[in-house]
Amino acid sequence: MISKKLEEAIADQINAELYSAYLYLSMASYFDSINLGGFSNWMKAQAQEEITHAMKFYEFVSDRGGRVLMKPIDGPETNWESALAAFKHAYEHECEVSRRINNLMDLAIEEKDHMARELLHWFVAEQVEEEASADKIVQELTLVADNGHGMLMIDRELATRAFTPPAAGGN
Ligand code: MG
Repeated sequence: MISKKLEEAIADQINAELYSAYLYLSMASYFDSINLGGFSNWMKAQAQEEITHAMKFYEFVSDRGGRVLMKPIDGPETNWESALAAFKHAYEHECEVSRRINNLMDLAIEEKDHMARELLHWFVAEQVEEEASADKIVQELTLVADNGHGMLMIDRELATRAFTPPAAGGN
């Protein structure tokens, strides 16, 4: 059985992961509107990944005999000044998600919930990747500084990202 405190904290995290999906889908639409299909592809794959994060937490709570009470999802921003501004936002957002995961881990330790700690270890490692991949694109965009050729090169690179669904039953 999962504690009420942890159940509620994870429900908030499920909401945050779904908000992330919503935010990245909003960014995807922004990129489509400025004809950067590769950037949009990257954001759509990211949005799908966020949904798998939400599902991972959901299944955990469900497997532990808990209940997930859904709350409204905030509306994300819909416009950015530039591709760089959008990716800076994505990077800052992931840093905020990392802080949330750290807080959840603190709570799991406090509650002596080793099963939750095991799940959260996966998310701690995942956040290292999430921060790094957004930051890499921020650095690339800073380097090309709106140069058309550079932007097209990054767009082509980001067009190759494919979403891989997690293996059934696995992590
Ligand atoms: Mg996530």
